[in-house]
Amino acid sequence: MSRDPRCLFCKIVHGEIPSARVLETDQAVAILDINPVSHGHVLIIPRSHHAELAELPDDLSGHVGSLLPRLTRAVVAATGADGSNTVINSGSVAGQTIFHCHWHVIPRFFDDPVRWPWPHHPYAGEEMGRMASKIARELGARADD
Ligand code: AMP
Ligand code: ZN
Repeated sequence: MSRDPRCLFCKIVHGEIPSARVLETDQAVAILDINPVSHGHVLIIPRSHHAELAELPDDLSGHVGSLLPRLTRAVVAATGADGSNTVINSGSVAGQTIFHCHWHVIPRFFDDPVRWPWPHHPYAGEEMGRMASKIARELGARADD
């Protein structure tokens, strides 16, 4: 298990900073976000320090993924939410502020003020096929990653 002594989430998973824990496994800890988008907003934090999603080992990502359905059911039931968003911010450009990869599970309500302000940019002509090939080529080139 890797650890960064300067990392806030490493301190939280090692119990050196208090947190409101809702779930613990041998590989991950789920806590309430201290500054939630809505009450019941949970963070799932792998115990091992990996700055971003792209650096996470597959089995650890799979483990956290396996917790998501049960945790989401519990968050929705406990808050009476109408649904939820599960997001990972990767990189400061995407809004990541703590560089220890984590998942957000955010309860959502039909009357909440949260909006995804994401614009959409449709492909023109052959662009979509070209982009699919480019990503598939990268996946092939990185098959042994
Ligand atoms: P991100 O912007 O995706 O890196 O998310 C970091 C999240 O960590 C933010 O939503 C913060 O509110 C939350 N956060 C920061 N410090 C703490 C803390 N001590 N305990 C719980 N959540 C925290
Ligand atoms: Zn860390």
